[in-house]
Amino acid sequence: MPEGDTLHRTAAHLQVLVGQRVEAETPHPRAAATGVAKAIDGRVLEAVEAVGKNLLLRFEGGVTVRSHLRMSGRWRVEPRRTDRSGRPWLVLRGTEWEAVQWNGPVLTLDTAAVGRLGTDILGRGVEVPALVARLRAVDPRTQVGEALLDQRIISGIGNIWMNESLWQARLSPWLPVGVASDESLETALGWAQRMMRASVRGARSLHSVYRRAGRPCPRCGGTILSRGLGDANRTAYWCGRCQRGPGAG
Ligand SMILES: [Zn+2]
Repeated sequence: MPEGDTLHRTAAHLQVLVGQRVEAETPHPRAAATGVAKAIDGRVLEAVEAVGKNLLLRFEGGVTVRSHLRMSGRWRVEPRRTDRSGRPWLVLRGTEWEAVQWNGPVLTLDTAAVGRLGTDILGRGVEVPALVARLRAVDPRTQVGEALLDQRIISGIGNIWMNESLWQARLSPWLPVGVASDESLETALGWAQRMMRASVRGARSLHSVYRRAGRPCPRCGGTILSRGLGDANRTAYWCGRCQRGPGAG
């Protein structure tokens, strides 16, 4: 699942097209139905930015396209070519490069959904105490793992960074957010922000708990557990020994 750092990296790659008048195509039938190609074909691409897990493409004339990759989508930036096979959702063709978006699944001309997003953890000038304050504003019974994944509270954090940052802060994903100390939330969010920023610059990181169920915890040797979390049933991974809080919700 592409998380905020992946989207920021994609936005950086797409800068090669900024300032150019682009040709736009939507070969996939579901993408064609959005009307996006007609609205942007021949317009100058003025800016590309990642907001949470969304990519916003701003065109001259105040037209904005929002792309959300969900589980399956991806962007590629490649030299311009004409012999493409398959049915990408969107092709933006500049003079030398083209950006190709595969597997959708969200491509829209509206930006209404962006207005409902919480503070982007990778936003410029966003500081950790402000992110903690966002978590403090939610129902204190909310499990901290679910709170971190809720894009209306803080945007950009996906399943990998949620699990890894809570392990770093020694918090169980099942702990009610009202019981977690400010210090531990700052540890989790500060670590996530630093690692996601490093990832935008291309750094790779090893996983301590993510997809390591049944293996020993690298910190204490306890067994790493896993279980579905929250309404979306994303998978939580945590060490049953050294992360504070209930074993499972
Ligand atoms: Zn442990």
